[in-house]
Amino acid sequence: MNVLFVAAEVAPYIKTGGLADVAGALPAALRAAGHDVRVVMPYYRQLRERGVAVTGPIAATFLPVGDRAEELRMWQLTDSAVPTYLLDIPAAFERGSIYGDGDDDRRFILFARGVLALMQQLRETTGWQAELVHAHDWHAALVSNYIKTFYAYTFGHIATVFTIHNLQYQGQFSPASLNTAGLAERGLIENGMGPGTAGTFNFMARGISYSDVVSTVSPTYAQEIMTGEYGERLDGLLRSRRERVTGILNGIDGNAFNPATDAFLAQSYSSDDVTGKLVCKRALQVELGLATSNTRPLLGIVSRLVEQKGIDLLDAAIPWLMLQTDAQLVVLGSGQPYLQDALTRHAAAHPGRIAVRLGFDAGLAQRIYAGSDGFLMPSRFEPCGLGQMIALRYGSVPIVRATGGLNDTVREGWDGNGFVFHQYEPRHFIDAIDRALTAYRETKSWAILRDRGMREDNSWTNAAQQYMGVYEWARRLQGG
Ligand code: ADP
Repeated sequence: MNVLFVAAEVAPYIKTGGLADVAGALPAALRAAGHDVRVVMPYYRQLRERGVAVTGPIAATFLPVGDRAEELRMWQLTDSAVPTYLLDIPAAFERGSIYGDGDDDRRFILFARGVLALMQQLRETTGWQAELVHAHDWHAALVSNYIKTFYAYTFGHIATVFTIHNLQYQGQFSPASLNTAGLAERGLIENGMGPGTAGTFNFMARGISYSDVVSTVSPTYAQEIMTGEYGERLDGLLRSRRERVTGILNGIDGNAFNPATDAFLAQSYSSDDVTGKLVCKRALQVELGLATSNTRPLLGIVSRLVEQKGIDLLDAAIPWLMLQTDAQLVVLGSGQPYLQDALTRHAAAHPGRIAVRLGFDAGLAQRIYAGSDGFLMPSRFEPCGLGQMIALRYGSVPIVRATGGLNDTVREGWDGNGFVFHQYEPRHFIDAIDRALTAYRETKSWAILRDRGMREDNSWTNAAQQYMGVYEWARRLQGG
């Protein structure tokens, strides 16, 4: 199948979040399965500054937006295994920031129109035509809108899939964006999106409305976003498209996250020979100034320190953890100042037992996954979550709240791989940690639990197969 991937971030070229990992890994996995997947993304100034090798321009044109026409040049990445097109639109991407300058509506309207121009260009000059367009998050959402309206005559036969990576970020702007976009239909502004959304131009709502299939990054999150609690005021619209909403878990990169080859670790290990993990635990205790001990349970967290991640629950559980257990705690992350301060205070009060490192450090993150016995993710909501999948691979048993992708990857019980709680309350989190620490004392059964997690398959190959099923489904629904 010919598939065009549309994303504002693609790892390793530009990344602010999980979207980039998906757009970087999934196309390659789909190509490995024999499909002609190509990617289109913005040509940000940052790419030029880093000297990323490009070929072209392969074409140039002008994009009409509002009462102006902006220049577009199309390039292609030279060294990418997946054919990747870059849209060079100086009015949108020739600047220092990636998002948030206040004109993001105009920038991503330009991006979407640029994608359509690229599709026309490829068809005319090379004969390549997408059978399916896979757009990601609000930045790419208007591509589906244009295909099904403005360009219906030319491209209306193309199936569209829209993936929501985090419903919290919707791209909401004033109705004036409608004119900039050159879109006539007003329905989505005046109604159809539920209370609180009237009077806005909402990119994500348009992606949801105009795509043949809407997917999210886990089956549980797909259900949750159709409820008032998690729906971010788009639950009504999503429920009206219920028959087309689905969820597929992200994979993790099995080469980047592999304790058998990870150069950041003091010693490598695998599910076949896990002895190196104890060396990693000791090295982590030394690195972070904790008391060295093989037998004390060591709990880890690597996370953005924000409310979404349940850091307030952690803050509430720490006094119990320090008084009632002999566990050690390691935290790496950065985020909201009041949460950072709270954790720093706990660390100061419990030297040798709690270590907090503020900042972003990929190497230390991997040493924490390797050196910890348990990994905490008490998230309020979690579209997919990578941390728990990496933790499983590294034999750090996840202790999580049953939400979104955490609910789909972590199970508690006789065939489980971790510990799970449901209600977002400190005592439920504490109970789950308590069950984990009790299990930890049973050395043999703990080893079985850990081993089961290490052997689980959360690969992109697996995810790519499921996406193919969704693509076939979207093609059947197309136009329906
Ligand atoms: P989200 O994308 O919502 O932040 P995920 O669990 O999906 O959460 O992905 C977070 C990823 O970023 C994980 O791989 C985690 O290890 C990594 N990460 C988060 N904070 C840090 C940090 N301070 N240093 C290094 N890696 C981090």
